[in-house]
Amino acid sequence: MSNSLSDRINKLSTSATLAMAAKARELRNEGKDIIGLSLGEPDFNIPDFIKEAAKKAIDENYSSYSPVDGYADLKSAISNKFKRDNNLTYAPNQIVVSTGAKQSLANVAMVMLNKGDEVILPAPYWVSYSDIVKLAEGTPVEVPTSIDTDFKMTPEQLEAAITPKTKMLWFSSPCNPSGSVYSEDELKGLAAVLKKHPGIFVVSDEIYEHINFRSKHSSIAGIEGMYDRTITVNGVSKAFAMTGWRIGYIGAADWIAKACTKFQGQITSGANAIGQRATIAAVEAPVSKIQFMIDKFRERRDLILNLLGTIDGFKLNVPEGAFYVFPDISSYFGKELGGVKIENASDFAMYLLEHANVATVTGEAFGNPDCIRISYAASEAEIKEAVDRIKKVL
Ligand code: PMP
Ligand code: GLU
Repeated sequence: MSNSLSDRINKLSTSATLAMAAKARELRNEGKDIIGLSLGEPDFNIPDFIKEAAKKAIDENYSSYSPVDGYADLKSAISNKFKRDNNLTYAPNQIVVSTGAKQSLANVAMVMLNKGDEVILPAPYWVSYSDIVKLAEGTPVEVPTSIDTDFKMTPEQLEAAITPKTKMLWFSSPCNPSGSVYSEDELKGLAAVLKKHPGIFVVSDEIYEHINFRSKHSSIAGIEGMYDRTITVNGVSKAFAMTGWRIGYIGAADWIAKACTKFQGQITSGANAIGQRATIAAVEAPVSKIQFMIDKFRERRDLILNLLGTIDGFKLNVPEGAFYVFPDISSYFGKELGGVKIENASDFAMYLLEHANVATVTGEAFGNPDCIRISYAASEAEIKEAVDRIKKVL
């Protein structure tokens, strides 16, 4: 019977991040002591002021359907946040609240792409971009970058990837999985190329905006000529440790926002009411309220870089944001470790899982087959123990 499934689902890959997390959970249930560094999920609890807002929403009976695009007061709070943090003016009718930034991205793909439209993805890119684009019948066009350019796409590479079929560019900064952060000047360089191609739209995924150890966050929508053609994606999963509450949002031209609302109105009817009420408290809060988490991520970044730096064969960039390291481990390819032949990054990640009991994710899922992704959104003790185990089995 399973061959009755649609071609659409048969062609879709399983999310590698979620699959690895599920595998780690399964092994843990079998009694194995697995350290999970596969999932990009803060290990902090949701701050109390956000929990209080959610409890209040329950008591105030926020139990009906919300407007499809989100509560009016939440959209105004998001509009203020865009102004305050990004100097971007998005009126409430340019904002759509969805079930996580993942759904925001899926909405945009479904309303913007026609069959065969090309979407440029600087690689490494976040795991779901490529499959979301394919689901919308678009064609992902990967632009490989390497550790030598800090995993960032140059204007020349962008120019070379553009064809008459190019419809969009999707990227994240800070980047999942590389942790790279595009500076304002680097974004200006990309914008200068895009200016010559006015039909190309940009999805700027800024979900890690606050987890930035480098400098002030820059939004490409703020660069001259880019505002009308950029869809700015954000959400509360990362900076506010609200992954399970599933709230993301976009700021975009009103006609794009309207199309996303129409699409979402047939798919989910809108994001969950309690999560939306809690998100008002999150986006209205000054960044100082979450600074302790950002400081901790920075300490952990330094810790894991120092520890991994002592292992032969790990080539590392210095991630300036998000909470991942993305070492190039290709020097192990062709070697045998503990009787296992390592041919690629998937073999390497599997070896670490089975022999060191440490869950990571293969770089292949992010469009870079030389690397693995290690999330350091874990306690210092776990990070130390994990690297210790990795060192031993290598
Ligand atoms: N974009 C990036 C770059 C991400 O890393 C994630 C989740 N890790 C998302 C979007 C989706 O976030 P969510 O659906 O939890 O809001
Ligand atoms: N986005 C997170 C990650 O990259 C969570 C998993 C997912 O949504 O795929 O690990």
